Amino acid sequence: MMTAVSLQNVHKFYNKVPVVNDLSFTIESGEMFGLLGPNGAGKSTTIRMLTTLTKPSDGRVEVAGYDVVRQPLQVKQNIGVVLQQTSVDMDLTVWENMKLHGRMHHIPTKKRQQDIDRWLEYVELHQRRDSLVKTLSGGMKRRLQIARSLLHEPKILFLDEPTVGLDPQTRRRLWEIILDLNKQGMTMLLTTHYMDEVEYLCDRIGIMDAGKLIELGTLEELRSKHGEGLVMKQVGDRLEYQFFPNLEQANAYLDTAPNKTGMMVRPSNLEDIFVELTGRQLD
Ligand code: ADP
Repeated sequence: MMTAVSLQNVHKFYNKVPVVNDLSFTIESGEMFGLLGPNGAGKSTTIRMLTTLTKPSDGRVEVAGYDVVRQPLQVKQNIGVVLQQTSVDMDLTVWENMKLHGRMHHIPTKKRQQDIDRWLEYVELHQRRDSLVKTLSGGMKRRLQIARSLLHEPKILFLDEPTVGLDPQTRRRLWEIILDLNKQGMTMLLTTHYMDEVEYLCDRIGIMDAGKLIELGTLEELRSKHGEGLVMKQVGDRLEYQFFPNLEQANAYLDTAPNKTGMMVRPSNLEDIFVELTGRQLD
């Protein structure tokens, strides 16, 4: 397998404060990688470095085999980016948005037109090709962003909170698109606050906190490491959580508890592990 994304001892300082602090990990070609972390953990900054929008202060970042600092053009040719802030132009039509992107990437006219047709059809927007973007729903705008990011045939797709604010039906349609692209061989890195999204979509999960990678692995690895069984217990107005290696041991603990009021046993999930690792304080 080839390495699609590689970070080695990467730092990013803002006003001498490290917001990304000695980050190292790799993403293999064809992998779907989920990057999680509480607000302020440094996820967006990491994506901005990977997509050449900001330079690392220290360390080495390679994307599609190219160095983001020395070969930013090659990196850009090989990546598609769907960020929260890089929104589509509201006063242009769907087609015009696609055309503009195709021209920026110097795709020859005939191929550009064919590919725009193909990708708009793929994300089911071909019937809205002449609509102004400002008349589209949130889900349609996101699908347009995805179609646009695919136009220059990138190898790696970066998706920053791709389904935030969308209704459940639209989220699931986007999941299908994301999974299908991955099945076609696209390497993907996505960030999200929705744990079910990561559980459903991602091969491997990285959890960041305060600029550092504090956990990395598959869902199975994470569950087996932290405990597959969970006892929830209501203590006053708060919930306490206790991990056990498996459900049987969690049940055995419950059986021996003198007072079972407000106690519940269930399999642990990613959200339990995430909260356990990143703390319970609210921001
Ligand atoms: P996340 O995406 O995980 O929420 P960010 O990467 O957006 O985290 O931010 C990490 C930290 O870096 C935050 O404390 C944020 O305030 C700070 N930060 C991000 N961008 C800048 C910037 N351009 N200048 C100064 N501080 C920044």
